[in-house]
Amino acid sequence: MEILRTVAELRRWSRSKRNNGGNSIGSLIGLVPTMGALHAGHVSLLRSSRASCGFTALSLFVNPTQFGPLEDFARYPRAFEADCALAEAEGVDALFAPSVEEMYPAGATTFVDVGDLGNRLDGQSRPGHFCGVATVVTKLLIAAEPDRAFFGQKDAAQVAVIRRTALDLRVATEIVVCPTVRDAEGLALSSRNAYLSPAERKQALALSRAVRQVEALAAQGERRSGALIAAAREIFSAEPGVRVDYVAVVDWATLEPVEIAAPGTLFAVAACVGSTRLIDNAILA
Ligand code: AMP
Repeated sequence: MEILRTVAELRRWSRSKRNNGGNSIGSLIGLVPTMGALHAGHVSLLRSSRASCGFTALSLFVNPTQFGPLEDFARYPRAFEADCALAEAEGVDALFAPSVEEMYPAGATTFVDVGDLGNRLDGQSRPGHFCGVATVVTKLLIAAEPDRAFFGQKDAAQVAVIRRTALDLRVATEIVVCPTVRDAEGLALSSRNAYLSPAERKQALALSRAVRQVEALAAQGERRSGALIAAAREIFSAEPGVRVDYVAVVDWATLEPVEIAAPGTLFAVAACVGSTRLIDNAILA
């Protein structure tokens, strides 16, 4: 596995692997962007990439522009050695771990503005978050020129933002979305779960319980968003340690609320457990 620190190195690596524009799996390049502190959710993206691309690059970059001033940028878990070992074991071909200065040259003033989409769901409580996400993902796609880039459905609003950005900027990379990986009790895996005390971890299960309940109701034919949201809120009301940020039924592309859920509609929740903000969601069948 090659460890790359600069955009120029990543671009050189990608171009050296690309095989004269052929499109067999062997010549395709997959990119898995992450902030590190890898877990089984990240591994599932790496495996999807390895299954459909001849070469897989993993990026590890805690992106400062997607954190608000009072958020957890400084204390976000960083585990470079363990991440390298896991990446190596998963057959990653190139690991890209740039510095902040490498990704944001001194005096940087150029950012990707995703419009109103950036102010919905997490964007409402985390102003500027999706601008930071769209900016760093665009930089990674320009640098790596991957055929495919892999993202988790766990961050469903982020997926909507990245799909929109890739479409609007006419990026050639195919955006691939992989299912949410959960622990044995249903909690969606997240690097931030490391912040949770054992008691908080139990409380955090309310998110996946709410998601499962709404999925079950939708499967039984309940389509009214109001009823789906009420059912989820009832679950949260039984867990006073969980402070709900949003419970929403939205169009997965625009993130705008819908009155009546249809196949492909996004049900999403965000809540704080102690000082840890967690999210979960389901795409309704
Ligand atoms: P992060 O390192 O948290 O920024 O996540 C990097 C990528 O991994 C994003 O595309 C996430 O959506 C994805 N991811 C994070 N957690 C999970 C999970 N539990 N299941 C599937 N994908 C995930």
